[in-house]
Formats: sequence, C-alpha cells, structure tokens
Amino acid sequence: MTEAAVRAALGRVVDPEIRRPITELDMVREVVVDGGAATVGIALTIIGCPAADTIERDVRAAVLGVPGVSSLDLTVGVMTVPEREALVARLRGTRTSQFGPDTLTKIYAVTSGKGGVGKSTLTANLAVALAARGLKVGLVDADVFGFSIPGILGLGPDDRPTKVGDLMMPPTGHGVQVISIGMFVDGSTAVSWRGPLLHRTIQQFLTDVWFGDLDVLLLDLPPGTGDVAISIGQLLPHAEVLVVTTPQPAAAEVAERSGLVARQTGQAVIGVIENMTGDLFGSGGGDAVASRLDVPVLARIPLSRPLREGGDAGAPVVLADPADPAAAAILSLADTLAARGRDLPRRPLPFTAG
Ligand code: ADP
Repeated sequence: MTEAAVRAALGRVVDPEIRRPITELDMVREVVVDGGAATVGIALTIIGCPAADTIERDVRAAVLGVPGVSSLDLTVGVMTVPEREALVARLRGTRTSQFGPDTLTKIYAVTSGKGGVGKSTLTANLAVALAARGLKVGLVDADVFGFSIPGILGLGPDDRPTKVGDLMMPPTGHGVQVISIGMFVDGSTAVSWRGPLLHRTIQQFLTDVWFGDLDVLLLDLPPGTGDVAISIGQLLPHAEVLVVTTPQPAAAEVAERSGLVARQTGQAVIGVIENMTGDLFGSGGGDAVASRLDVPVLARIPLSRPLREGGDAGAPVVLADPADPAAAAILSLADTLAARGRDLPRRPLPFTAG
C-alpha cells in the first residue's frame, strides 16, 4: 500500500534535463517500505550529473511527503553503460522525426538581410513570450556571426548542454530550451567554419539535441543568404520564415533577398517584422518588404531602451517590463503566432498583404 504510494510520489519527480518522470526513465531501482522507514535507490544517468542535487532533493521531498513515511534511506547510484544506452535508444525512439515533415512542432526560421537589425533580440524575446504563454519552446541559435542568444536569455559560459549517451540536453533560459553554436566554440571561431561543418553541426542540433515534444522551434539564422540559411532550407524545408527588417529602404532591399532565398528552398515566408520603427530610421521598410514578398507585416517594434537593456542584462523585456511598447508589440506577435496553432500548417493569416 505505502510502497505503491511512494512509487506514485516518485512518478512526480521529473529529471530537470530530460524533463520526464524518473520512474519513466528507469532511474528508480528499489523501493522498500518497512513501517515508517522507506528505502529508495535511484540511478542517475551520469556521474556528477548537474541535475543530481535537484533530483535528490525532489526525491527526498516526494518520499517524505507520503503519509505514513517518517524516514528515508536514499541511495544514489549511476546507471551502467548498457542501461544508459537503453535509455538513450528509448528516448530517440519516442521522438522519431522530431522536426521531420510530419512534425506537430511549428518551426519558425528568423532571418534578416543584414546584421544589427535586432533579429536575435526579437527572436529571443519572442521565444520567451511564447514560453510564457505556456508553450514548450526551443531555440536554435545558428547565427554564426553573433551567438548573442544565450546572453540575451541570461545564460552564461557555464550553461552548456549536458550529455546523456549521445544525446545533448540543452540548457534552459527563461523557460526556453536553447542550443547555440557558441556553446561549442571559444569566442567567435565558428565564423570561419566551412559550409559542410556548419551543415553537420546544424543537422546534429536537430537530431541529437533532446528538446522533448516542442510546440514551437525558433531558429535564429545568420543575416543574409549564406551557407547556414541554405542548410536550414535543406534540412527544414517545411519551416516557416519570418523576415526582420528596419524601416530603412536599404535594409528592406537586402531583407527581401533573404526572404526570396528561403522561398527557393521551399520554405514559406509568412511575414515581416519591422524593428526600430519610428522616425529615426526612415519609414516604409517593413511595408516595402512585405508587399514585394506578398506577405503581411506581422509586427512593428519601436525603438526601446528597456528592450536593449534587457538584452544586455539577460532579463528579457517581455518578462521584465511587459508594458514597454516594444515588449507589448512582441507579446502581441507571440499571440498571433500562438493562435495559428500547431495543427494548422500554413493556414493563411487573417491579414492583408502590405
Ligand atoms: P541582429 O541579431 O540583427 O544582429 P541584435 O539583436 O544583436 O541584432 O541587435 C543589435 C543591437 O540593437 C543590440 O544591442 C540590441 O539590444 C539593439 N536593439 C535591437 N532592437 C532594438 C530596439 N527595438 N530598440 C532598441 N535597441 C534595439
């Protein structure tokens, strides 16, 4: 009776990296209850697993919270190599084609014509806004010229993926699971990587990173029409593309080109985000790109000091200051995207072009 209750309690302890109950991961080895004394053995995936403290604490709280249990003798061990391999095989099995053509995950690739238009800042804030709406969100930072995503999401140099077998568990920032090429290189050396290596790395992100079942996957692409954009086009032809531009006519022209290249790979451009809207950078850029690509302007984000400061501080403005006009515009964009639902692929948006 009590043993079943203890097992049920353990079923509510979630591995913070794999995000599944430890009972489903075969981590629970032994459960014995004798009078009020419980003896529990668990096996972690790897030695020194960063999640170990959390799991141990949660196991203690769960078991000692069961009525009738007054003490706990907890043994924390490590899985054997075959056990770990079996687990990894099982995890892989549950997410076949996690981002394949039949996926239920909505995939948005965010591109721009040139750097510095705020693409990474907007992508990170959009991801956080979607996660705050209760969606499961992953973000792949493929901007080989920047890697600014982890910083904007408050992740530091120590926040790297942990390995379970040959699967990588991405770190989480403000509710968003993040993987970045920047987590695998020192400084900005990836800029000099050749196309095939970039292609393999991105492919690995899509197959070997354990995101679980995502509602939304966002990809922060490098600006322009280079190797990475083409790789993403080949690997995810069903991704939908958001084009970021500033209002300047010159920025609009290169942004349009990025959208056209994405379209050539089969991806659907679904809309334009105009950033830094206001008088400072001229006007009309967003409308110009949208009308030439025949898609709507989905959002206009004004210049905002809190948006920039939030990015620098790793405290995204959509959480830190949701009333800020830029934050409000991003939150409303998140609502627009969330409302499209994940089972309504490529449904036309209720907007008119331009
Ligand atoms: P990109 O990814 O296009 O290269 P970033 O997201 O790195 O651009 O943004 C470049 C700089 O502009 C960053 O310092 C960012 O904080 C700032 N920025 C982006 N959008 C805005 C905005 N709407 N208002 C003020 N600053 C912004």
